[in-house]
Amino acid sequence: MTTIFGKILKGDIPCTKVYEDDWVLAFDDVAPQAPVHVLIIPKIPLVNLNDVDESHEKVLGRLLLAARIVAAKKGVATAGYRVVMNNGENGGQSVYHMHVHVMGGRAFAWPPG
Ligand code: 5GP
Repeated sequence: MTTIFGKILKGDIPCTKVYEDDWVLAFDDVAPQAPVHVLIIPKIPLVNLNDVDESHEKVLGRLLLAARIVAAKKGVATAGYRVVMNNGENGGQSVYHMHVHVMGGRAFAWPPG
C-alpha cells in the first residue's frame, strides 16, 4: 500500500528536504511539534520495526546516522534533541511507512504522554 511518505519519495507530493542519501530521505514535518521537527524515512517501503530483520541492518543504521546529521544541520546537536520512532497503534504511528522523528529547539518532558 502506498502511503503519503511513499508519494513524497516518488516526488508526487512536495516536501522541504533537509537531507538525502542512497538510503534515506529527511524532510520537515508538515505539522511541527517543536521548532525543529524533521522526519527521516527509509527509501524502501518498510512499515515499522515489526517489518525488519537482519537484512535491514544497513538501512536501520543509516536512519540513526541521518538523525545525527539532521540535528547538526538544524543546529540542535549541542543543546540536545529527541529521536522517536512510533510503532503501531499504541505507539502513536499514523503513517505506515517507517519514520524517525528528530525534534529539537525546546526541552521535552519524560515520560512522553
Ligand atoms: P507518526 O504519528 O506516524 O509517528 O508521524 C507521522 C508524522 O507525519 C506526523 O508528525 C505528521 O505531522 C507528518 N505528516 C503527515 N503527513 C505529512 C505530509 O504530507 N508531509 C509531511 N512533511 N509530513 C506529514
